[in-house]
Amino acid sequence: MSRFAYVNGRFVRHGQAAVHIEDRGYQLADGVYEVWAVFDGKLADAAGHFARLWRSLDELRIAHPMSEASLTIVLREAIRRNQVREGLVYLQVTRGVARRDHAFPNPAVPPAVVITARSVDRVAAEAKAAKGSGVVTVPENRWGRCDIKTIGLLPNALAKQAAREHGAIEAWFVDELGLVTEGASSNAWIVDAEGRLRTRDTQANILRGVTRLTLLDVIAEAGLPVEERPFTVEEAKAAKEAFITGAGSLVTPIVTIDGVKVGDGTVGPVASRLRGAYIERAKAGAI
Ligand code: PLP
Repeated sequence: MSRFAYVNGRFVRHGQAAVHIEDRGYQLADGVYEVWAVFDGKLADAAGHFARLWRSLDELRIAHPMSEASLTIVLREAIRRNQVREGLVYLQVTRGVARRDHAFPNPAVPPAVVITARSVDRVAAEAKAAKGSGVVTVPENRWGRCDIKTIGLLPNALAKQAAREHGAIEAWFVDELGLVTEGASSNAWIVDAEGRLRTRDTQANILRGVTRLTLLDVIAEAGLPVEERPFTVEEAKAAKEAFITGAGSLVTPIVTIDGVKVGDGTVGPVASRLRGAYIERAKAGAI
């Protein structure tokens, strides 16, 4: 099947899609991105991802490339052209193309926009989630504005590679106090020894995950005890359960941390229940 990418105003064949060598995203990582899960051809948690996109752009003083209504149309067109029923749609906006200079182009240039969409095998993902996966821990070495979803992902890429080399699916960053911040591309959660759900608060230097936020709502509705409070690696290893959240991972149970079993090393009831409840909620709210 042919794949198509949206590049600065038009859809082109994925294999031929290209940006300028002086795109500031390419040279300086001067840009932001968003990822929406797609259920039944529709955008999940759409409003949350749009809100974060506008905030990320505003924080970096990059102009909005189009209105939310127009962007919704283009994202849906990317989904349609790539025949995605279940999958992901990726959007990247950079400050644009200009002669290389660290400071912003003056006068400003139009932001550059790239959109791709791809299918995900949800049956395989469910089978994997039912087995559970591992995480490794790595020292936190990212900049101080992880609340902005920038394309500057080198520490995240290195962390993810370390995870892959250890047979794990994710790496958890650990700060100088020994507290888990978040994953390389997900937020981190545990069900602590007392049975309380715990995830890091958003005062910390983490991305405000949209899946995390929706899941907090699902948890409140289910009446489960939850605290937005940091946890140490030791607490996570001694926890009853652990899991990660993100547009890609949805809610993915974690059964080992640095090779140490969490609980009995099998997927626990809370993580598996929350995965189902999150997917149900995301499907119902998709647009
Ligand atoms: N934290 C980081 C560093 C991420 O890159 C991501 C997703 O890419 C998340 C958390 C999860 O965010 P969301 O649930 O909005 O996908």
